[in-house]
Amino acid sequence: MARSFFITGTDTDAGKSIVTAGLLRALAAKGVPARAVKPVQTGCMPVNGLNEAPDVQLYRKAGGRGKALKAFGVPCSPHLAARLEHARLDLAELARACRAEAAGVDIVLFEGAGGLYVPLNEQDTMLDLMRELMLPVLLVVANRLGCINHAILSLDALENAGIDTAGIVLCRTLPPSIPDPGTATGAETAILEENARFLKGLAGKRQIPFLADIPFIPNFSPEDPYAWHRLEALLMPAAEHLLGVASCDAADASPKSGMSDLATQPALSAQEILDFDRAHLWHPYTSALAPLPVREVTGTSGARILLRGGQELIDGMSSWWCALHGYGNKSLVKAAQRQAARFSHVMFGGLTHAPAVELGRRLLPLLPKGLEHIFYADSGSVAVEVAMKMAVQFWRSLGNTEKSRFVALRGAYHGDTTGAMSLCDPVTGMHALFTGLLPRQIFVERPTCRFHEPYDPRSFHPMERALREHAAKIAAVVIEPVVQGAGGMWFYHPQYIKSLRSLCDELGMLLIADEIATGFGRTGRMFAYEWAGITPDILCMGKAMTGGMMTFSAVAATAETAGGISTAPPERGGGLFMHGPTFMANPLACAVACASIDTLLASPWRERVSAIEHSLSQGLAPCRGLPGVADVRVLGAIGVVETEQPVDVERWQDFFVACGVWIRPFGHTVYVMPPLIASPDDLARLTRALCAAARSAASHGGTPQIKDVPPPLS
Ligand SMILES: *Cc1c(COP(=O)(O)O)cnc(C)c1O
Repeated sequence: MARSFFITGTDTDAGKSIVTAGLLRALAAKGVPARAVKPVQTGCMPVNGLNEAPDVQLYRKAGGRGKALKAFGVPCSPHLAARLEHARLDLAELARACRAEAAGVDIVLFEGAGGLYVPLNEQDTMLDLMRELMLPVLLVVANRLGCINHAILSLDALENAGIDTAGIVLCRTLPPSIPDPGTATGAETAILEENARFLKGLAGKRQIPFLADIPFIPNFSPEDPYAWHRLEALLMPAAEHLLGVASCDAADASPKSGMSDLATQPALSAQEILDFDRAHLWHPYTSALAPLPVREVTGTSGARILLRGGQELIDGMSSWWCALHGYGNKSLVKAAQRQAARFSHVMFGGLTHAPAVELGRRLLPLLPKGLEHIFYADSGSVAVEVAMKMAVQFWRSLGNTEKSRFVALRGAYHGDTTGAMSLCDPVTGMHALFTGLLPRQIFVERPTCRFHEPYDPRSFHPMERALREHAAKIAAVVIEPVVQGAGGMWFYHPQYIKSLRSLCDELGMLLIADEIATGFGRTGRMFAYEWAGITPDILCMGKAMTGGMMTFSAVAATAETAGGISTAPPERGGGLFMHGPTFMANPLACAVACASIDTLLASPWRERVSAIEHSLSQGLAPCRGLPGVADVRVLGAIGVVETEQPVDVERWQDFFVACGVWIRPFGHTVYVMPPLIASPDDLARLTRALCAAARSAASHGGTPQIKDVPPPLS
């Protein structure tokens, strides 16, 4: 794949088309195959019943090749031109069509319409299309009064969108406004020259190449070979520069990275990335020396993950439960940028700030009455540590030092730090490996009462026995309400939790709900304990709280729990809760969490979860009864296929990636929990891939074969 570029302007009529056409000529003169593509062209005149795109005509007159992907008649903004023809431009579809164009051997110059914020539809702008494509951008600056301001605004907008600017071309398309010689014309010349001088300086400071200063060409006619000749000469340095950028990683087959973020350093090649990663970067749950293979991500968008080389995967993992709204959600990105521009972090000792308070004000109404003291921490595991310390401190503050053990369920997962790990399933949590380090907790068998089956009270007996037997030593019972996540994706009956709540009250022990995976709507309730209608004493939140933008967590405690800790006499802790992470209440994370909660609440999330539940149930049903499949279950936006034998993660992943989906199984579980914004088509592709894998595995000893990857859907 050759390198392509996006050409945009500071405004309409900045000279983009002339520059694009001139570049085609200059590239042709260098013997390089290049084409120009207008993703959207408006103002097309009907010729022989066909809409003829004016810019495409211009490319042709320059001796180049080009086409328009979407053409509309009326010369106005694309959103309006489309609407006038009862059409709507779809960003994802347009981006896909552009990517298909860029996949050939030619250098493609994509020419935008108007400036960066020209609307494509009611939501998306030309800049969103540029962001989807992530091609280096050539900015054509209209040399006229006001252009410095326009140029800086455009460059900042590109930079904020994470897009590299490959260069600036200054272009004068207007004739001198006052034909009369004299001072006024003199002033205009001075303005144009000053624009050029200033922008060259600005470009230098930003390390963006200033590629050409195209003067007004009097009597320019597209029919005039001499005019094209002149333009070609003026743009030759620009063409040469683009070729340099293009060859920089031509070997790399990536439409994505031009210059790296450190704008002056050439981007690393795909091989360099993988080699360094393999040699030096540790990945989760794998060896440093012989790790499982990894794939390089170069971008994300909506429910899609983009791999180096251009392959798009539909995300079935929400990046481990957290990317609730998919990727690149505009309000979340804006919240992070806005807060970063104000202040990104201050210590929480002795200081406070609006983002922390705003987040608290959003969380409280989501929680049952009583849960009213919030502790912000940095990750899920830390939240669990905090909750454990709260429970122990609570009993000490009452003078009870005996209560310092915890009850947890087999099949549980509560995090990887030492305390949290002591609560994880002893087998899958590898407790044997850490004997001596881990505190020993009390484990109760996994609840046998399935979510969708009538409740059998006998399923609670093991818990009841354990609690009664050890009551004096137990500080708290820790559960993942309704859905046990990373310990095996098990769904159990809410009545179990109801019984647990009553018994904890009766025996005097706290109930900690770890909703790090289930919180914020995943199961069809805002929090999974709502299925049981109970209030935990301590609640842990994390993962989806920031919509997957960054690490963050929160622990909410009841007034009684917090009150107990806080009124202890000096010899029992003095009322101070002894925890305080450096990045506690990080303002960036708080601001993003606020935006994520607002986004969730403003969306029809309940309907979405139940629609996803329906799609997953239907889509995964064919797996039921296949050899090697032990169980198929769906709850909310979580779908699970449990296998009889542990899966070969690498081989299953290869199969899924070949299907164009991102699903990462573990142990006996192959599961999906897509972002809530996943489309019906995305969901169908996810379940289709999962079924194909299970079917292939069924006839090949438990491991799917690449030859069984279904042909792509059109
Ligand atoms: C992921 C998870 C944790 C740990 O959160 P981290 O942010 O990975 O530390 C704890 N509890 C549950 C239920 C989880 O799913």
